[in-house]
Amino acid sequence: MIDHDVVIIGAGPAGAAAAILCAQRGLRVVLLEQAVFPRKRPGETLQPGVELLLQQLGVADAVQAAGFLRHTGHWVQWGGARQFIAFGQGATGPDRGFQIPRDALDSLLLSRAVESGVRVMQPCRVLKVIRDPRRVCGVQTQQDDFTAPHVIDASGTSSWLSRQLQLRWRRFSPPLIAHYGYATGVCPEAEIFCGIEADPLGWCWTAKIGEHRYHWTRLSFFPENKTQVIPPAVFKHLTASGPARGADVTWRVCQQAAGDGFFIAGDAAFVLDPAGSQGVLKALMSGMMAAHAVIQARSTPWHELSIQQQYQQWVNEWFNRDRRKMCEIYRTHPFPPTWLF
Ligand SMILES: Cc1cc2nc3c(=O)[nH]c(=O)nc-3n(C[C@H](O)[C@H](O)[C@H](O)COP(=O)(O)OP(=O)(O)OC[C@H]3O[C@@H](n4cnc5c(N)ncnc54)[C@H](O)[C@@H]3O)c2cc1C
Repeated sequence: MIDHDVVIIGAGPAGAAAAILCAQRGLRVVLLEQAVFPRKRPGETLQPGVELLLQQLGVADAVQAAGFLRHTGHWVQWGGARQFIAFGQGATGPDRGFQIPRDALDSLLLSRAVESGVRVMQPCRVLKVIRDPRRVCGVQTQQDDFTAPHVIDASGTSSWLSRQLQLRWRRFSPPLIAHYGYATGVCPEAEIFCGIEADPLGWCWTAKIGEHRYHWTRLSFFPENKTQVIPPAVFKHLTASGPARGADVTWRVCQQAAGDGFFIAGDAAFVLDPAGSQGVLKALMSGMMAAHAVIQARSTPWHELSIQQQYQQWVNEWFNRDRRKMCEIYRTHPFPPTWLF
């Protein structure tokens, strides 16, 4: 049995961000990750807003030094002519997003967590929640038990803690699977093309993510349709890097993202399909919010219930704002999904 101030499950962007902030505030943090890094995950295209979060987490310089591709907006073909939608203009020039392969981003964040004093256990699979009668107070893993007054679940779409606690979820779409893949080679059209294109079934996203490296994602609005597994025509001549994969991106939000002894962050708390390229931003932000909530709960334990409620409200508001935005965009699709409400 090992005691910490915070136990964090999952070392994706949500878990790493939560771990860094908690450790920077002097908390004893253990971060439990089942996978060995580097590991493949989709989510390379990052919005300009991520830059501020990377600065706060202390990895902005490392990201800058790595020289990842940057873009000033997206190409959109949504029924009419293809048009470029720029992010906007800041004081120092156009706002720019990033194309950061996830293995690189996750490794940078994890290194920063270690530098900040986080104890990382990897590979270490979390198996069972430990509860005293009133609250979540730790987890059992393959290696050991880890106990703490606060547990942050950042286990991604496996939503580990909510399954353990049998928490309720609210779904806002039929089951949706995004198919995605990677390709290498030379693709002059994709040199300038980072964007989304509507098709009769849904949409297709393509991006250049590095030197001769490309990513595609396709989403069908019709769950029963299986034809979206094939790469888009523009990448047909490239060499596929591994098989196409599928991921569950059903729109959903956990009805209890905080409770006695726990906070849930990132995809473990709420998911929308990746049309908005917001998942990593949301994961970083919610990991940081969960860390702030833990820090607040430690300094004013008599306010813990209201801190939990505020966190839940924040999750709901973010999810509903993004969901409404997504509905607006999908209503203008040339073949809008019938399940929109
Ligand atoms: C096809 C596709 C394309 C996408 N494209 C983009 C994009 O372009 N831009 C963008 O911002 N977002 C994108 N996203 C969304 C993005 O991938 C996610 O929102 C983001 O990865 C969520 O981060 P996270 O930290 O919550 O979870 P994850 O990154 O999934 O991390 C969770 C971690 O928890 C670990 N874990 C799980 N269970 C356990 C356990 N029991 N014990 C220990 N460890 C555990 C996992 O191994 C994993 O490392 C895309 C998603 C998909 C499916």
